[in-house]
Amino acid sequence: MRIYRSKRFLQAYLHRLPFENKVGFVPTMGALHDGHLSLVKNAKNSCNTVVASIFVNPTQFDRKEDLDHYPSTLEADLKALQKAGCDVVFIPSVKEMYQNQIVSEDFDFDGLDQVMEGAHRKGHFAGVGTIVKRLFEIVKPHEAFFGEKDFQQLQIIKKMVNKEQIPIKIIGNPIYREADGLAMSSRNVRLTPAQRIAAPFIYQTLLKAQKLFKSHTIEEVEEFVVQTFKTQKLLELEYFSMADEMILLPIDKKEKNKKYRGFIAVFAGPVRLIDNIELNF
Ligand code: AMP
Repeated sequence: MRIYRSKRFLQAYLHRLPFENKVGFVPTMGALHDGHLSLVKNAKNSCNTVVASIFVNPTQFDRKEDLDHYPSTLEADLKALQKAGCDVVFIPSVKEMYQNQIVSEDFDFDGLDQVMEGAHRKGHFAGVGTIVKRLFEIVKPHEAFFGEKDFQQLQIIKKMVNKEQIPIKIIGNPIYREADGLAMSSRNVRLTPAQRIAAPFIYQTLLKAQKLFKSHTIEEVEEFVVQTFKTQKLLELEYFSMADEMILLPIDKKEKNKKYRGFIAVFAGPVRLIDNIELNF
């Protein structure tokens, strides 16, 4: 497995690959878990060369506390990437990606960035768009792999490549969970033992909401989730939204030919956790 810290050297290597070689790309912020590695394995199944990046992108953090405490486990990450079949790892510095201008570009994501994560984390998706676009320009992959764990991000990246006519196929991958249902996240290691025991409550509540959605009104499901979280001392609900998968806006009435999803963000102390689930009726 090749490791590059410089975009010039990475590009020089990628330029030497045969023309017909299919390149798959998995952008990450490191502190890798099996969810990340599933993206690498999926990329390996469909591409000849898999490039993963590890870069904690400062412009997508709205809270300094979150950025300062973001876990870093580089040595273990590299071992895990190699084992998962990754061919190339790109680990740029902030200077390599931003020079001396650590600012985001402006994007028009047709409103996809105005709700949920976008509404609660100011500037988050402009930061995500900026870094993913730069990484795409450097790696120029044929396919890029993203997790449905960050479903809103996945839809925004699809919107970006579509609007900017970037010739990369964006592939969504299912959410990987711990045995007790907690969605895998790099931030889970920051949970205290008591918060870690409480955290599977998030997915358990989503499963109950999924069941209720079949027979109850949207207001009833929402009320159920809000009230359920009031019983949990260690978890604070930030939002729960039932939205159309394509436009991500909250639904007011259920329509048969649409796809819906429930999206949730919860604080466990300072640690913010997100999850989502398909909703059918
Ligand atoms: P991150 O390192 O958190 O920026 O995540 C890098 C990529 O891994 C993103 O496309 C995430 O959606 C994806 N990812 C993170 N957690 C999971 C998970 N539990 N299951 C599947 N994909 C995930």
